Amino acid sequence: MNTEKKRPSWAEPYKIKSVELIHMTTREEREAAIREAGYNTFLIRSKEVYIDLLTDSGTSAMSDKQWAGLMVGDEAYSGSENFYHLLEAVQEYYGYKYLVPTHQGRGAEHLLSQIMVKKGDYVPGNMYFTTTRLHQELAGGTFVDVIVDEAHDPASRHPFKGNVDMDKLDRLVQKVGADRVPYISLEGNVNMAGGQPFSMANLKELNAYCRQHNIPIMLDATRTIENAWFIREREEGYADKSLRSILREICDLTDGCTMSAKKDLLVNIGGFFACNDEEVFLKAQNMVVVYEGLHTYGGLAGRDMEAMAIGIREAVNEDHQAARIGQVRYLGDLLRKAGVPIVNPIGSHAIFLDARKFLPHIDQDDFPAQALAAELYLEAGIRAMERGNVSAGRDPETGRNRRPALELVRLTLPRRVYTQAHMDVVAESVIRLYENRDQIKGLKMIYEPEYLRFFQARFEPLS
Ligand SMILES: *Cc1c(COP(=O)(O)O)cnc(C)c1O
Repeated sequence: MNTEKKRPSWAEPYKIKSVELIHMTTREEREAAIREAGYNTFLIRSKEVYIDLLTDSGTSAMSDKQWAGLMVGDEAYSGSENFYHLLEAVQEYYGYKYLVPTHQGRGAEHLLSQIMVKKGDYVPGNMYFTTTRLHQELAGGTFVDVIVDEAHDPASRHPFKGNVDMDKLDRLVQKVGADRVPYISLEGNVNMAGGQPFSMANLKELNAYCRQHNIPIMLDATRTIENAWFIREREEGYADKSLRSILREICDLTDGCTMSAKKDLLVNIGGFFACNDEEVFLKAQNMVVVYEGLHTYGGLAGRDMEAMAIGIREAVNEDHQAARIGQVRYLGDLLRKAGVPIVNPIGSHAIFLDARKFLPHIDQDDFPAQALAAELYLEAGIRAMERGNVSAGRDPETGRNRRPALELVRLTLPRRVYTQAHMDVVAESVIRLYENRDQIKGLKMIYEPEYLRFFQARFEPLS
């Protein structure tokens, strides 16, 4: 008898072989730490954190196979065997012809933007990502958001809030002309929207439109496997397909990708640029030697490429993704049941607290999400991240804060790292904070770096 389908709940598809000890700090210690950090959770030392939900980037636990892979690192300057393993895995699972490894995602974004964007160009995308947009701007382009309106509404239950609004895209193309649009930047499981997927139907429509106007589709493949999960769950005709085949179908409808392997691909460092166009590849291959390293290692050690090649195969494992998404939903459900305002539907990599609803008494220019992240640390030693007015930065034309529609705190779950008991503690802490929310005050920015200010900005509590 096949009992597999009857199992009522998911469980982690692994046993724990090695542990890293963590410990809780005192309130006094946390008060000193957050003051020292300028009320910016990016500036807290990791040893001062109890449960670290800052990011899912590079924070995953590698498998024993990946650790073993480190030992077969071929650290040759040129032609490392691990590069060829990585190339094989990318070709097999993502389907692109050409590969240029980079030290992480933004290294690939740099290559793509410098090669394809010219001054005065417009780059449409399904919502911005911080580093992606900055590289487009540094290359002389202007980012244009063409995501569906529902993505900007935390309460909307639209199943595919990552979709491209084809009318918005067409209006842009009509206005500036297709030759001013070097490519469309398409992100899977849109991070800034709360980890929201695009649908295959939307991608097929986009593909047809882009073929017609001769505009390449460049995928931000960082969380595309998690996007594939939602396509299977929510889109007709995909219920019986494997994650692996859906991933491949997505890639086959696009022309190339940038990848931060620190997310889906279960490694602590790594990334790549991949494409099908030989001319673009040759430029990227040439440029990578200036900024990252030779084209067969791109700023990585051979062992890092081996771990990535193994991670590509592990990331499409069905049980792995079921547990990954199951854990995120478990945390989200606990918070939702307690009435805590979060972004819906629950995405794959994080729970996003809606700081506008959580702290309606704080004006957006007093950074409610930043303040909430700082309070959560003070309350429970839990480290989260602001994704709101600080992350959005200033409008390059007006110089004012962008005041984005979404003012969020991201509780990001590293893959294969924390247990369900940790999730219980996180939920209890957030709920406690929610009950005392009227006592939380806004922040004043006292140091603002020029680029990607959210990483290094410093704040002071408003009295
Ligand atoms: C993390 C991330 C990047 C940038 O990658 P890094 O590896 O951090 O340089 C780009 N796009 C998305 C969607 C990301 O989440």
